[in-house]
Amino acid sequence: MQPKKFFAMVNYEKCRPEDCDPERGCCTSASACTHKVMKQIDGLFEQPMIFQDMCMGCWDCIAACPLEAVYIRHVT
Ligand code: SF4
Ligand code: SF4
Repeated sequence: MQPKKFFAMVNYEKCRPEDCDPERGCCTSASACTHKVMKQIDGLFEQPMIFQDMCMGCWDCIAACPLEAVYIRHVT
């Protein structure tokens, strides 16, 4: 049996880079991810993605998102 795994996920219905940082379009959650597994790979003003296999479950990204667009996904 696999151990339970937790990782962060983006709710793309709530995530709006143009609203959380209207001037720069910079994802504050991705900036807060010191493990560098959450990134705006398509550039500023684009929604970020999370490399879930490498997510450390520190939840810094959740605390950093002003729109509460990041959440914890539990996989059993
Ligand atoms: S995840 Fe949060 S902080 Fe990042 S772009 Fe989306 S709404 Fe903004
Ligand atoms: S939980 Fe931590 S490691 Fe995972 S994406 Fe968020 S900030 Fe990065």
